[in-house]
Amino acid sequence: MKLDLNIQPLESWIKAKSEPLVIAGPCSAETEEQLVATAHLLAKTGRVTALRAGIWKPRTRPGEFEGIGSIGLKWLSRAKEETGLPTAIEVATAKHVEEALKAGVDILWVGARSTVNPFTVQEIADALRGVDVPVMVKNPVNPDLSLWIGALERINGAGITKLAAIHRGFSYHEKTAFRNEPMWDMAINLKTHAPTLPIINDPSHICGNRELLGYVAQKALDLDMQGLMIESHIDPSVAWTDAKQQVTPSALVDILDRLTLRKPEVKGADLKDKLAELRSQIDKIDDIVFQKMGERMQIVEKIGNYKKENGITILQVNRWEEILNRRIPYAKALKLSPEFAEKLLELMHSESIRKQTEIMNQGQSEQPQEKLTHA
Ligand code: PEP
Ligand code: MN
Repeated sequence: MKLDLNIQPLESWIKAKSEPLVIAGPCSAETEEQLVATAHLLAKTGRVTALRAGIWKPRTRPGEFEGIGSIGLKWLSRAKEETGLPTAIEVATAKHVEEALKAGVDILWVGARSTVNPFTVQEIADALRGVDVPVMVKNPVNPDLSLWIGALERINGAGITKLAAIHRGFSYHEKTAFRNEPMWDMAINLKTHAPTLPIINDPSHICGNRELLGYVAQKALDLDMQGLMIESHIDPSVAWTDAKQQVTPSALVDILDRLTLRKPEVKGADLKDKLAELRSQIDKIDDIVFQKMGERMQIVEKIGNYKKENGITILQVNRWEEILNRRIPYAKALKLSPEFAEKLLELMHSESIRKQTEIMNQGQSEQPQEKLTHA
């Protein structure tokens, strides 16, 4: 399904100072000195296109620092005046939008905790009606693509065409190396639904630490994302919020220096031929994979009929364990990751079960259509 979004290309409303496009600045504006000094250092790098800072901070628990508030708007104006950097802040209410616009903030973004709430997003969208300002929409905290899409549609529906998405990762029930799981598939799916929508990656909130920033930023660029939002603070060790993930402006430059920029399109004819040749090899293999899948499913059908005739249950746990135990070492030997192999097997297995259920229920009253459990 392609989304019906009316979007202006990113380059038409934000000119990257250098590649890749980088929006940087502290998690929170804390004091005028901290914000202005950080802005100067960032501007001096020549690598930063816009200055970010949170002045209204959504915090999980009350009593924590909830942002410096409206006074920060004046500090942002000063930082912009002195450095020439356009400014970006998070807005979460109609009042924030009004104040930000009045103060001349250049880019607004909707935070992850707002994207989850259609009432909040609609309130922000209504406040934006008739205004020509760039807006970026962070993914919702939970991995729900439709909430992300819905928020983009609401903002776009209010007439905002300078629109981008920010990929900041998703909360996940298991502890992993990341503060917020990247779940790259989500961003890729969004891109498939809305190919013209620019996506900016936010490695800071994905990582929650400094060590993995470069890795995530590189992966985002390799997935053809259009820019990076990275938190940078003049002295991260004393930052009032997100201290563990912020980097100094000079550490930011180190990270950017290590990134490899790749092009989405191949230019030279030779390279094009080589790529076309490799792709045709892949296509041929995919044909065979599908053909074999079809053959596999025909056998599954036979098994289903046999089980039906003999009154045997569809699922036999031992059999599934046997498949896993046998296939995973084989996959490893073929240099396939065990995670991939397991996912693939699960997918094939659940399709087999679905097919066999269909066979068992043949001739009975109407059955609901079920989705693949592992899809
Ligand atoms: C932020 O950018 O500082 C922020 C609060 O981000 P998120 O909405 O992604 O948590
Ligand atoms: Mn932050």
